[in-house]
Amino acid sequence: MKNILLIGLGRFGKHIAIKLGELGHEVMAVDHDEEKVNEVLKYVTNARIGDSTNEEFLLSLGVGNYDVCIVAIGDDFQSSLETTSLLKELGAKLVVSRATRDVHEKFLLRNGADKVVYPEKQLGTWTAMIYSSDVIFDYIDLGEDYAIFEVSIPDSWLGKTIVQLDVRKNYNLNILATKTKGKLNLALTGDTVLEKGQTLLVLGMTKDIQYCFKL
Ligand code: ATP
Repeated sequence: MKNILLIGLGRFGKHIAIKLGELGHEVMAVDHDEEKVNEVLKYVTNARIGDSTNEEFLLSLGVGNYDVCIVAIGDDFQSSLETTSLLKELGAKLVVSRATRDVHEKFLLRNGADKVVYPEKQLGTWTAMIYSSDVIFDYIDLGEDYAIFEVSIPDSWLGKTIVQLDVRKNYNLNILATKTKGKLNLALTGDTVLEKGQTLLVLGMTKDIQYCFKL
């Protein structure tokens, strides 16, 4: 369980609050809009109404005590940047800030953010990858050109074992798991036979995955 400070309770921040609550974390939720705070009360352990660009207010929250501080302010970039930079100055251990433009991402990283999440870009990429293809079901970009793809199994692979296919040698890819009706099987061996109705979770360089699965 982690102690998390969540600042900005718009649509994005609210979804973060709901998920963190489900995961059982201790969450302090903050917004300067009372209505926004009231909307997340049932999902979080604590909440405060206040302006996160106000140093006194942030000090009163004891920002250094949280494992993670998430700045989910989006459009109001001035507030997002000031909050991010103040959090770091006041001793926050890990600051994760939301960007809504490329230039914001750069400024946030230069001014105190340890990590940046960029929902429009990340989900835009994901949507393009998944819905422009008949064979990709999920996609996680790991950076440095690596990714995990969930893909359907080519017909020519059905009934063959992982050893027979030898995708590591032939395509430079690792098969991590198979998925059958939503259930993952991570306990693969060389003798595992690939069957119709399954999908594969494959890790490798994006270009190798694209080549192998003719994406
Ligand atoms: P979303 O896209 O998540 O719905 P939004 O477009 O409604 O957000 P943003 O400007 O991105 O609005 O701000 C997100 C939330 O952060 C809002 O609820 C807003 O009240 C809050 N917020 C903005 N600035 C501050 C601040 N300085 N202190 C505290 N809360 C703030």
